[in-house]
Amino acid sequence: MILVSACLIGMMCRYDGLAKADEKVIQYIRDKWWIPVCPEQMGGLATPREQAEIVGNRILSLGGKDVTEAFEKGARETLKLVKMARVTKAVLKARSPSCGCGMIYDGTFSGILRPGSGKTAQILMENGIRVISEEMIEKDDFSFPHTL
Ligand code: SF4
Repeated sequence: MILVSACLIGMMCRYDGLAKADEKVIQYIRDKWWIPVCPEQMGGLATPREQAEIVGNRILSLGGKDVTEAFEKGARETLKLVKMARVTKAVLKARSPSCGCGMIYDGTFSGILRPGSGKTAQILMENGIRVISEEMIEKDDFSFPHTL
């Protein structure tokens, strides 16, 4: 069972109320069992919502609101789902403060990246789930051991 960021399969759950459908992901999951999730919605955040980034050990919206609790709740709820559905792999949206794995925005809202992972990607990896982004799908590289 593969967990997929809902925005990658066309669900309009992003902060801006849009989707980010990715044809490679849609093709990849066609012949597999999969389940979509939007951790930020599962954390209780509305759509649309303010853009947010990880700043130090908190998650702040562009307007300065601390949304850490909602992001952490979304990560915990996603982990519950992962355990219930016996998910072993996840294809998550690159660079998101929830779903990004390996590289995320640096907290300055200026498009600069830094090493790190989003709250949900991190908790999944800590629990043994193989996580890749849509940008790694061509390699189907679930064997690659990603660091946190
Ligand atoms: Fe997509 Fe993940 Fe952001 Fe939801 S939290 S919109 S699934 S990147």
